[in-house]
Amino acid sequence: MAPFAPSSPTVYNFGSINIDHVYRVPHLVKPGETLSSTDYRVVLGGKGANQSLALARGGGRVVHWGQLGKSDRWALDTLSQGGVDTDSVRLVDGPSGHTVIQVDDKGENAIVLFGGANQAFTAERIDGLLDGAEFGDWLLLQNECNAVDEIIERALQHRLKIAFNPAPMTRAVKDLPLDELSLLFVNRGEAAALVGCDAESTTEVLTRALHEQLPETDIVLTLGSEGAWFITANSGETHYQPARPVQAVDTTGAGDTFIGYYMAALQEGRDVSTCLLRATAAAALAVQKHGATESIPDRDEVETFLS
Ligand code: ADP
Repeated sequence: MAPFAPSSPTVYNFGSINIDHVYRVPHLVKPGETLSSTDYRVVLGGKGANQSLALARGGGRVVHWGQLGKSDRWALDTLSQGGVDTDSVRLVDGPSGHTVIQVDDKGENAIVLFGGANQAFTAERIDGLLDGAEFGDWLLLQNECNAVDEIIERALQHRLKIAFNPAPMTRAVKDLPLDELSLLFVNRGEAAALVGCDAESTTEVLTRALHEQLPETDIVLTLGSEGAWFITANSGETHYQPARPVQAVDTTGAGDTFIGYYMAALQEGRDVSTCLLRATAAAALAVQKHGATESIPDRDEVETFLS
C-alpha cells in the first residue's frame, strides 16, 4: 500500500455508480426480435465508481459522494471492500443507475443507460455534501450525475480544487465555469468537442486550442495508445508520456483507471511526470484484461510493471 501522509488532501469523488447488466448474445438484438442470451453477469460500473476504485487501488484516499437504489447495497459493499470511503453514499428510493449491455461474438456492444439514482441528487443533498470538506481538498467529478453545475459552484465557494472529466461530453458542459477548474481530464473526442475542432486534428492543434480556451487550468489530454499530454496552466508548457506498448483486449475503463491513478499520485504530492507515468502504467495493465472494475490493477502490480 501507499505511503500515505495524513496531511494529504482528501479527494471527494462526486460520481456515478451504475449496476451493469451484461448479456452475451450471438448478435445485437434487431427491432422486434427476441434473442436468448448465452451468458449474464451483473457488475459494478459507472465512471464515478470506476475512478474511485482506481484511486483506492492506486493507494489514494477517496471519499465517494454518490447514490444507489436501496436494493443495491451490495454495490456499496463492493466499493467499500475496494478501499473507497462510502460513508457519504446514500441509499435512496427508486432504481440505481444501471445499464443493459449486449456484447456479441465480435465484441461489438449496444448499451441502454438509465440514470436512476445518479440523476436524483437534490439541492439539499448537494448542500450537505460539502460540510466536511476543507480548503485545499479536491473535488473529482465526471458528467454522469445531475447537479454537476451546483456541486461545482458549492465546491468553488468552499475553495476546493476541482478535477473534472467531462464524460460523457454534452452541450451543457460548455456552460460550466470551466475556467475555474484546477485540472481537466479529456480524451481526444471530449477535447475536440470542447474546443470545437475535428477529432482527427493533430495533437498540436488540440493542445494549443485547449490551452487557449482554458489558459489557467492544468489539462491532461489522453490519446489512447498514443499516450497522454499534460498542458501546464498559464505557461502552456507541455509534458508527454507515451503509452506502454501492450496488447489491448478491452479498453473499457482505460480512462477511468488513468484518472484514478493520476489523482492518487497527485494526492501523494508527486510531480506531473510521476503522475503521468503511474497513470499510464495502470491503464496499460487495465487494457490487457476484460471488463472495467475487474481490470483495474492494484498498486503492487503497477509497481512491478514499472520496475
Ligand atoms: P478513454 O478511455 O477515456 O477514452 P483513452 O482511450 O485516451 O481514454 O485512454 C486513456 C489512457 O489509457 C491512455 O492515455 C493510455 O495511457 C491508456 N491506453 C488506452 N488504450 C491503450 C492501448 N491500446 N495501449 C496502451 N495503453 C492504452
